[in-house]
Amino acid sequence: MVGFGFDVHKLIPGNSLTLGGVVVPSDITALAHSDGDVVLHALVDALLGSVGLGDIGDHFPDTDSTWKDADSQLFVRETHLLLVEAGFTVTNIDVTIILEKPKLAQYKGEMKNVIAELCHIPAERVNVKATTSELLGYVGRGEGVCAHVVCQVDLI
Ligand code: MG
Repeated sequence: MVGFGFDVHKLIPGNSLTLGGVVVPSDITALAHSDGDVVLHALVDALLGSVGLGDIGDHFPDTDSTWKDADSQLFVRETHLLLVEAGFTVTNIDVTIILEKPKLAQYKGEMKNVIAELCHIPAERVNVKATTSELLGYVGRGEGVCAHVVCQVDLI
């Protein structure tokens, strides 16, 4: 089965951006209730979507103080457990991050490793792509960052 997830966060002045579980030094940060990791939030939605378990807000509501400044890796770990309980294992994950700057090329490998570990699959089954918005729209103006994630899951 296939799942798809999307997330966007507003960018504000700061000193680092957490993407795919990796802290990227930057003069911007994501405005969020948790650590604002759009990649892991989109991944959670993709995993939940693949097995018909709703969305990230159903499981980790941003009105719940438990999740204030939460490390989003926790959301992925919890979601992976739900997936296993439902009888599924992750086959592969494909990520696209859209961000004007900073450049992410040097961080993609580390993101792959983090995501693979969180989802209990080899790093070769995870693909991370980064692109810009060609200066167009909210991403192009540096106002936001977004991520799209597709995953396939299969019965254990
Ligand atoms: Mg989010």
